[in-house]
Amino acid sequence: MATNVKKANKVASKKVSTQAKPANQKSHGSTKLRYVYYFGDGKADGNGKMKPLLGGKGANLHEMTRIGLPVPPGFTISTEVCTYFYENKRTYPPELNAQVGVALAKVEKSAGKKLGDSNNPLLLSVRSGARDSMPGMMDTILNLGMNDRVVEIVAEKSGNPRFAWDSYRRFLQMYGDVVMGVQKRENEDHDPFEVEIESVKHDAGVKLDLELTSENLQTLVAKFKKLIKERTGKDFPQDPHEQLWGAIGAVFGSWNNDRAFVYRRKYNIPHEWGTAVNVQTMVFGNRGDTSATGVAFTRDPATGEKVFYGEYLINAQGEDVVAGVRTPLPVAMLAKEMPAAHKELLNVRHILEQHFHDMQDLEFTIEDNRLYILQTRNGKRTGMAAVRIAVDMVKEKLITKEDAVKRIPADSLSHLLAPIFDRQSVKSAKKIATGLAAGPGAASGHVVFNATDAVEWANKGKPVILVRIETSPEDLRGMIAAEAILTARGGVSSHAALVARQMGKVCVCGASSLQIDYTNRTLTAGSITLKEGDFISVDGTAGEVYAGQVKTAHSEVVQVLVEKTLDPKKSQTFQEFSSLLGWADKIRKLDIRTNADTPEQVVTAIAFGAKGIGLTRTEHMFFAGDRIDSMREMILAETRDERKAALAKLLPYQREDFVGIFKALKGLPATIRTLDPPLHEFLPQTEAQQTDLAKKLGIPVEKIHRRVEELHEFNPMLGHRGCRLGITFPEVTEMQVRAIFEAAAEVQKQKIKVKPEIMIPLVGFSKELKLQLEIVHRVAVEVAKEKKTRFNYLVGTMIEIPRGAIVADKIAEDAEFFSFGTNDLTQTALGMSRDDSGSFLPDYQELEIIRNNPFATIDQNGVGKLMELACDNARKTRQDIKLGICGEHGGDPESVKYCHRIGLTYVSCSPFRVPVARLAAAQAALE
Ligand code: PEP
Ligand code: MG
Repeated sequence: MATNVKKANKVASKKVSTQAKPANQKSHGSTKLRYVYYFGDGKADGNGKMKPLLGGKGANLHEMTRIGLPVPPGFTISTEVCTYFYENKRTYPPELNAQVGVALAKVEKSAGKKLGDSNNPLLLSVRSGARDSMPGMMDTILNLGMNDRVVEIVAEKSGNPRFAWDSYRRFLQMYGDVVMGVQKRENEDHDPFEVEIESVKHDAGVKLDLELTSENLQTLVAKFKKLIKERTGKDFPQDPHEQLWGAIGAVFGSWNNDRAFVYRRKYNIPHEWGTAVNVQTMVFGNRGDTSATGVAFTRDPATGEKVFYGEYLINAQGEDVVAGVRTPLPVAMLAKEMPAAHKELLNVRHILEQHFHDMQDLEFTIEDNRLYILQTRNGKRTGMAAVRIAVDMVKEKLITKEDAVKRIPADSLSHLLAPIFDRQSVKSAKKIATGLAAGPGAASGHVVFNATDAVEWANKGKPVILVRIETSPEDLRGMIAAEAILTARGGVSSHAALVARQMGKVCVCGASSLQIDYTNRTLTAGSITLKEGDFISVDGTAGEVYAGQVKTAHSEVVQVLVEKTLDPKKSQTFQEFSSLLGWADKIRKLDIRTNADTPEQVVTAIAFGAKGIGLTRTEHMFFAGDRIDSMREMILAETRDERKAALAKLLPYQREDFVGIFKALKGLPATIRTLDPPLHEFLPQTEAQQTDLAKKLGIPVEKIHRRVEELHEFNPMLGHRGCRLGITFPEVTEMQVRAIFEAAAEVQKQKIKVKPEIMIPLVGFSKELKLQLEIVHRVAVEVAKEKKTRFNYLVGTMIEIPRGAIVADKIAEDAEFFSFGTNDLTQTALGMSRDDSGSFLPDYQELEIIRNNPFATIDQNGVGKLMELACDNARKTRQDIKLGICGEHGGDPESVKYCHRIGLTYVSCSPFRVPVARLAAAQAALE
């Protein structure tokens, strides 16, 4: 073993090998396709680059074998077989049988054992492995090859009958469940195998599985076989080759199980990728006290700190660690319990990072003091850890700045801006438990005890904390719905921890002092009992749990940049955030602006790196204080003079708002949009509110009723809104434009530069824009004259209905810039209401009619084509036209990358998305 690791040290610095055949290449002069790839004894048919074909797990097993790490021999059946399997009514390519036979013979030779052999039986594991890891979502079978005869041989050869019988019962349990479908029925509360285990434990008078004797386990094996026969009508297959094919089929079949499906949808993993199947020689961590099994991360996956981070269980199989049933020990303890293996493991840690240039998540087994590595993959990590690891690895010269920028999921930057608990509020809160800090951040919510309730409550708009003894993949939907996850059992690599980390969910796991009672729906910690629905608060950064609601405070980055209450030198998180975005800024081509309607939002966005405003929705300013009354008066006016009088009341308010915004911008540009929503949105809807308004304005309530009725529209989003308002009520545009220029004059007087960009919404005809711009230019001249100043301003339009995109060349004759309003452009291009499509879009995603929600991520093949058309047409008329986007898509990484590709000048998004957009824009430039 030690020699293996030494050899690995030598080759670790080599780049990932590319020698193996790429997908679909013909094998050895034969015309047959190759479906099976062998690895063992330092040689492998595949390599780390072959993830699409061999899956992530498979490709890395091949790569680790190549670099000399101690990997038990095995073979990988490629993802192409999975595709074939589903395209051909769950059958295999004709070549597969023979290819598996050849690979199996090689494994047998290398291991010096044979499947089903009477002297030296080989035992195998059969595991799934998709291109991207899908932790716990698909099936695994261990100890394959066990049968009534083999168990006796294993018992004799190992000198450990308990181990042999325990391995057999585990195999029966997994095979019975996964391959033969013996599972909990709808009317049952417990897994039927677990029921048998409990009954044998009860009869034996013991509490723990570990206390069962070899004789007890023999009884259990008999009960399991009987259970399988009763439930399926079939005998458990004794032939190991039949077992192998059953297991392979079940693993391919698990690609399409419900939880794998949900997972793929959440993480946008295409269904057509398929999984590979890895068949590998078993090594045993449950052969007594000189054996162990564990998982480890080469750095802390929650914080990113450079410490070896993991856990293990003595005398256990891998599933025991991940399932979270026994709480494992921290890997540092291994230094005391098995010093030699621990030393080797540290060496492997170093080799893996040097070779893969990323933080690795590895599975290991120690069998009779010999270390084996069963898996490595790039470790899932929190947003905070992603940033820390990447920045540290640049410092360590393991990766370049470009690598760092490329590898951090842009969305994960939002984790660094997520709230933490308010210090004062926490001091007075009642701490009821501590556990492992598995997912940083802070959250308060109602206690729920199962996934179904979590989804239901969350759908009603209630924040929930999902509290479980331990989680399993069945809980996925609930975990997505919850604000935070709290478990009583399980370590940092338990299912709850892994999944929470990836989702960026707050999570505390292994809070072992908690007693959770599913039947009565209570959670007890010492003398405190919380019921379903009670408030609980979870600090996933510190690993602490509090009864009741705790106030949250801003993240360190926000405290430094926005609140200015924290010294940047004192925040490591801020420094890393800032280094990374500094690198991103040097790389990106897109400018980043913000959608902001108030000076405060502008200041926040600038602190996050925005270089101006891409959209001010002026209508938001009409709701503050008593301005809404003047707005309503304007809407209720019956004559132009009456309307003008009401508008005159609004003018000073608008001017004041623009002054604040211009000052906050300190010379950066501001795209300000004229009034957009249909007027009925401003009127009171209930009888009581209408009576109130009538009193305030001194008009009969009937007048209000009448106007509300007149303004009623069946399709308000396609009705009297956008520039159509300015066309019928030019005085509204006039007032708004005057407010903008008067504010500009006032701020310019204070020697602050102002760059207004006046934007007309919902333009579909070039004449609409022309008419509105006549007003803009006329008012600009008037105000300039009155105030004895000059203005440096632009005029432009939103492109947010298909006709606007089609006639963009005409529109560009007058527009100096375009901003794509992709919220409206999506609803008008798709004919789907942006407010009402939530009722059917999930079905559309489930049926794969669409991959993403088009209101979140640009529909590139549809809406995108309209954008491209508009860009091309506009450039024909005005080559250097400034093009931007201000729909919600401006803060979505995939859409930002698309905007880069079609050559937009900038994206504009909400202030807190600005860092995400900066990073995504840099990633786009590196693609
Ligand atoms: C849009 O339609 O994309 C847009 C930014 O305008 P609003 O959301 O205000 O309609
Ligand atoms: Mg719009």
